[in-house]
Amino acid sequence: MDTARSTLFAKIWDRHKVVEREDGQTLLYVDRHYIHDGSRRAFEVLAEKGLKLRRPDRTFGTPDHYVPSSSRDISAIADAEARAMVETIEVNAARHGATVFGLRDPRQGIVHVVGPEQGLTQPGITIVCGDSHTSTHGALGALAFGIGASEVAHVMATQTLWQRRPKSMRISVEGRLARGVFAKDIILAIIAQIGAAGATGHVIEYAGSAIRGLSMEGRLTVCNMSIEAGGRAGLIAPDETTCAYLAGRPYAPKERDWESALAAWRALPSDDGARFDREVTLDAAGIVPMATWGTSPEHAAPITDRIPDPSTAPDAQRRAGWEAALAYMDLAPGTPLDAIPIDRVFIGSCTNSRIEDLRAAAAIARGRKAVIPAWVVPGSGLVKAEAEAEGLDAVFKAAGFEWREAGCSMCVGMNGDLVAPGQRCASTSNRNFAGRQGKEARTHLVSPAMAAAAALSGRLTDVRRMLAEG
Ligand code: SF4
Repeated sequence: MDTARSTLFAKIWDRHKVVEREDGQTLLYVDRHYIHDGSRRAFEVLAEKGLKLRRPDRTFGTPDHYVPSSSRDISAIADAEARAMVETIEVNAARHGATVFGLRDPRQGIVHVVGPEQGLTQPGITIVCGDSHTSTHGALGALAFGIGASEVAHVMATQTLWQRRPKSMRISVEGRLARGVFAKDIILAIIAQIGAAGATGHVIEYAGSAIRGLSMEGRLTVCNMSIEAGGRAGLIAPDETTCAYLAGRPYAPKERDWESALAAWRALPSDDGARFDREVTLDAAGIVPMATWGTSPEHAAPITDRIPDPSTAPDAQRRAGWEAALAYMDLAPGTPLDAIPIDRVFIGSCTNSRIEDLRAAAAIARGRKAVIPAWVVPGSGLVKAEAEAEGLDAVFKAAGFEWREAGCSMCVGMNGDLVAPGQRCASTSNRNFAGRQGKEARTHLVSPAMAAAAALSGRLTDVRRMLAEG
């Protein structure tokens, strides 16, 4: 391995290389394989081929996509197929000896919330999961990426994965964030600048003083949306924030192992002078609260802006994309973003359902009243319990928000939690694609504080105004 001036990504990649083929494919060793209720087909493939789960001790999961957010009762899942998905992950885990935090386990939640929370996600390791937003785990300095269904079966059988080595890209965000500006605004500003395909073929390393200044929850939000910029993965160098976050977590190394882990983690950050294939820099002070107006995360703009006119798009392809997006969203060019009416609010998803997200939303909701339906869906049972211990549930309920059970919920229209056709939802999730939250649903991506502000005003609102009101 070339340790001279390596990037964080290269260090992890090189340490996990099993073999390289002449066609450029590398067989990588997988340290952790996360599974969820959508993994049923891969277990069926194993059974059809008469194979065993190669490393049950490295396989962890939880049902999240299809679980109800109304209760922990599996009979609340009306769709028989969805119910079977939630049931079989526990059956398959028991059969193969893998660890799954089931629907009634207090540790259940969205797989990308549960992994870090349990201390399973650690610096320097490789993580894969059959879900695009596996990039989330890069926040702790892991190389983590989503894989397809056939690859899930391959990892189950071999604990390895064939991959082509991505390029490297560093996105540095320098300076201090203003009050009312959060990690979600950083990543939306990045995607607005580089585009939804801006990092295609690259692993992104997020760097700079504004990134280092983020809590672990904020870093998880940023890395979560790497895929929305086209990135294969996104990661952040481990530092004291990382170590403090992991200390004492159930699956984090203990005692002497902890000391040697710390030493190994401290050697992981990219070396001074390490070369990246691409570099982008943003000024944190220039970022304001963001909201999306279209059907791609790159259709994002400062809340103080107006909806752009497709005639000003930089090229014909984007012009057509903007026109189609505005037709779907039923919005007119030139409309101020903060004049867009909102029908409902969703605070949750693997992007923004952690304790800090709920605190930020509750700080806005406290003492005020929602004028439209608003849901708060914690990312895990443990986040829910922590929020309740702090009284956040009481704040939300007093403000007229609904306090729900953990799961993916309204992030994705596959579990019964839907935005009605034609309705507009201010959502803390990561995708505003046409139909993502339900047929003909219209999604505006925002931070948790901005989502709470929208719930209170019934339109997209600059949360800084509410902060100023106290
Ligand atoms: S919360 Fe949404 S984006 Fe995250 S894993 Fe669930 S469905 Fe996917």
